[in-house]
This record gives sequence, structure tokens and C-alpha cells, in this order.
Amino acid sequence: MALEVHQFPCLNDNYGYLIHEPVTGQTATIDTPEVEPINAALAQKGWRLTHILNTHHHFDHAGGNEALKKEWGCTVVGAANDAARIPGIDERVSDGEILAFGNTEARVFEVPGHTTGHIAFYFADEGMAFVGDTMFALGCGRLFEGTPQQMWDSLEKLMALPDETVVYCAHEYTQANAAFALSVEPDNAALVERAKEIDEKRSRGEPTVPTTIGLERATNPFVRAGSEDLQRTVDMLGANLVDVFAETRRRKDNF
Ligand code: ZN
Ligand code: FE
Repeated sequence: MALEVHQFPCLNDNYGYLIHEPVTGQTATIDTPEVEPINAALAQKGWRLTHILNTHHHFDHAGGNEALKKEWGCTVVGAANDAARIPGIDERVSDGEILAFGNTEARVFEVPGHTTGHIAFYFADEGMAFVGDTMFALGCGRLFEGTPQQMWDSLEKLMALPDETVVYCAHEYTQANAAFALSVEPDNAALVERAKEIDEKRSRGEPTVPTTIGLERATNPFVRAGSEDLQRTVDMLGANLVDVFAETRRRKDNF
């Protein structure tokens, strides 16, 4: 594995991620939720920050851009179609673009829905995806700017990745997500089992993130609109999948 990932908590429930490519020493922070913990993590690892990879413009993702850029002179990478809202942006990237990073590379996915300019970074050789607030463990981001159709398409893009892909999402929301997931898919045995494991991990203060595409495929109601159990609970047996997704998201908003 050519990339080392260092994960640490930021703010209330965000995760910070540093990724380090050891041959060139290039080091990126995925988003900039909070400057101090990011600098502390860099110091702890002995790494120098060369890049900021922004998933979207929200303050808990891009709020530290300017301070970190000033301190490190690093390159800020963000969505071309949302450049005006990414502080300090240097490199504008679009869907399908390959971003060189050290001796490896990431593919950029445009995944609108949570915001119109949300992107994800997929490191195919390492089997890792950094998905920001698009997909969470057992959840998905709120639709602040996009339509259900857009978010569904974005989630489907991520679900097309191999099952073993490790998914790094930006928040520890899993326990609350599990309670909702169980309410809409009570007969999903894999979900029941996972919810137990999540409770155990959280009671020990351990993160439930990262997750994997395969685990989400089996248990995340927001990518399981085709599940009959789910469709029955929301009273939409046989309905269009986007409509089932939209109703599931609406119920979560009111849960
Ligand atoms: Zn956000
Ligand atoms: Fe966020």
C-alpha cells in the first residue's frame, strides 16, 4: 500500500485525514475541519503538508484552508464548478480527472447532492475513497442543495466501486444512523448484527469509520432502495428507486 492514512477527530464529530505518500513525502489533508488538530497530527507524524484536497465548501470542510495554506504554502485542490466557494483554491478539478499525488493518483468523482459542487477522491491502486459528506457509514449527507435524483446518482457512482474499497467519510454519525436504518429495515440481519458491533465500538470510544462499499451495500438504507423490507416499511413496494430513496431521506430528516 503506497499511501499511509492517519485519522483523527476534529470539532464535535468530524474526522480529519492526513494521507502520506512515503516515496515523495507528499502529504495531503482531506478537507480542513480544524487547523490545530491537523497541525498537531502533522507534527506527530513528522509530515509536511503539501496539499489540501477539498470535498466541498462547508465550513467544517474548508474552514481551515486559508490558515493552513498560509502556514504551509500547500496547494489547494477543489471542484472546478464550485471554485468560488473553495477558499484559496489553486487547482480546479472535474469529474473523471486524474489527480497526481506523489507516486500514486486519485480519480475525481463529482457527487452532487449534499452541495452542488461536492466531489470525492478515489485512489484506485490503494482501494480507498474519501467521500466527504456524500456517504456516511449507514447514512448519506443531507440534501442541502441537490435533488434526490442527483444524490441517488452520486451514491450509485460510489456503489460502482469494488466492494472491498475502504470508504473514509467525514463524520462519526454511525450510531444515530444505525437507529434510523433499523427503523426502516428491521428484518435485515446484517444490519442488526452491524448495529450491535457499532454500539460496542462506541461504548469503547472507538471510531466506526472507515467503512467499505460492501458493508454499505449490505446495510445502508440510502443505497438499498431496492430492498423489499425497506420498500414495505416506507409503504412504496415496487416504486421507482429514486422515489424510495427520496422518501427514506425525508424520513431521516424527521427521525
Ligand atoms: Zn457538509
Ligand atoms: Fe460536514
